[in-house]
Amino acid sequence: MTCAPRLNVDGRQNIPVGKIICLARTYRKHAAEMDSPVADDIVMFLKPASAVIHDGQAIRIPQGSTEVHHEVEMAVVIGQPGSHIPAAEAASHIHGYAVALDVTARDLQRDAKQQGHPWATAKGYDTFCPISTVVPAAAIPDPHALDLSLAVNGERRQSSTTAMLLYTVDDIVAAVSAVMTLCPGDLILTGTPEGVGPLHRGDSVEARLDDYCHLTVSVE
Ligand code: MG
Repeated sequence: MTCAPRLNVDGRQNIPVGKIICLARTYRKHAAEMDSPVADDIVMFLKPASAVIHDGQAIRIPQGSTEVHHEVEMAVVIGQPGSHIPAAEAASHIHGYAVALDVTARDLQRDAKQQGHPWATAKGYDTFCPISTVVPAAAIPDPHALDLSLAVNGERRQSSTTAMLLYTVDDIVAAVSAVMTLCPGDLILTGTPEGVGPLHRGDSVEARLDDYCHLTVSVE
């Protein structure tokens, strides 16, 4: 259990995690595999900071689910606070980037969708937000040209590029900050490409954001 998780930057856990805003249906092929339409506006939901774990730790399959899925995502880490941030000024609010998993109890999410209930249970279990060390934005020339991939037990399951993201990072920061003030340590998980699938106890999961961010977690 982690009540005050922090992000690893430069080898030190030196940024407290704030809000975790997750985006849905931001890659066309993933929306298609979920039989979900691509929305006109950005679809967002929240994941609790208590779900954060780090490289080398373990996703725990909760007792309430029999179908826990991986979703590999690029995470945007906010560095400067802002509300109603214009897209043209978004870059000055971004501290850096990481690779993260939006771990999802797919069976519970499916039930929630059918009943019109929120996704908080399906998305909010402890350990459901593994995240890598944060790479400063200045080290990444173009966040829209990064390979994004995930392998389970060495087998590639998700392989895409942030070039397929339907929105720019600047537009995402603008859209989210038009709803809620963004604060240092807030994370925006920008959605997953196609290829999501089940995790099982004993699996080893490797996620990569190009050559910049690496994350390895186990499943128990
Ligand atoms: Mg997701």
